[in-house]
Amino acid sequence: MAFKRRSTGKSDADPGFNPNRTPDLFALTAEGYIIAQDIACQYEYVEAQLCADCGCPLHVIAQINRSYQGLNELVTACPNCGRNYSFIFDVSNEVYQRWWAQRLGDLYVKNYEGPPRRAARRH
Ligand SMILES: [Zn+2]
Repeated sequence: MAFKRRSTGKSDADPGFNPNRTPDLFALTAEGYIIAQDIACQYEYVEAQLCADCGCPLHVIAQINRSYQGLNELVTACPNCGRNYSFIFDVSNEVYQRWWAQRLGDLYVKNYEGPPRRAARRH
């Protein structure tokens, strides 16, 4: 049995997608972290990157949960030359935390005590 997706598509179908993303998505914090506003966007960001040496799309090989720092890190490798790239996303920002809290409901725990980071500059 298949359900027809609504025209808004992905936002309804993908539990990792935040329908309330803002223009600050993928902007950089003052520290240089990449603003993430949901889980799906972090993989979208990596999918858009190419190896600087050989131009191949990168594959995610590890996900490092640093939520106690308000961060999430994706480690990638080029399948062609093996070079590694790390992408560090900010998940402390208000858009992400609001979305995460709505998703988890009573299970939500704020495990980063610092102030939410903000976008400092666009790419
Ligand atoms: Zn490469």
